Amino acid sequence: MASFSKKGTLSDLQRFINEVYGLPDDRLYSIWDILTQQQRFTMRALKGIRKGNMEKVKTNLLISLSWVMAIVNRLHIDIEEDLWKRFPYLCSYCGQLPCACKSIKSAKRARIKIDDKKRPHSLAAFQKMFGQIYPPTARTLPEAGVHLAEEMGEVAEAVHNYLGQHQEKQFREVRIELSDFISCIMGVANSAGIDLGAELALQYKDNCHVCHSKPCVCKFSEVAALKS
Ligand SMILES: [Zn+2]
Ligand SMILES: [Zn+2]
Repeated sequence: MASFSKKGTLSDLQRFINEVYGLPDDRLYSIWDILTQQQRFTMRALKGIRKGNMEKVKTNLLISLSWVMAIVNRLHIDIEEDLWKRFPYLCSYCGQLPCACKSIKSAKRARIKIDDKKRPHSLAAFQKMFGQIYPPTARTLPEAGVHLAEEMGEVAEAVHNYLGQHQEKQFREVRIELSDFISCIMGVANSAGIDLGAELALQYKDNCHVCHSKPCVCKFSEVAALKS
């Protein structure tokens, strides 16, 4: 049996998703299919925000994060390492803690010095870090949602460019956009009061959260029809 512990790391989540979903993902889903699923559940989380349905926000945010991990696995990316390098307890743009982009209004990215001693040791600790870099009190939940939607589009654009032209710099762009997307998942979770580590541990206590098998045996048509 595979499970995710609430003290687990992002790498643990990545491995868990591979263990449970790697086989069906490879056999049944092209990367475009995986991207569509990631977008579909992100969109539903946004719908939950619009309707004020926090249960819907939570469920779909978790599923969306899981599909992002499937993209990360397909492309063999070490997402925890990338996320840390992009957000080393500082805003990736202004280089401040908390982010001061609104008052600095700089036209270019600050040079950032990374202090590895500050690196969070669990997914929950990463969420806490994002709460300090981008305090939820500085924006509303719908604003956090709009930012998530923006980053969702940027992931799709970056993957589209890379798979079209196969350039190394485009692959770096994919990695950056995936990190930005995950930072926004954590931002929405912070604004909505969702403890991602604890909720993922509840959802993934026993293999796939729908069929409870490892590997997952949910049919392509069943996933397409999933109500959430
Ligand atoms: Zn900033
Ligand atoms: Zn399943």
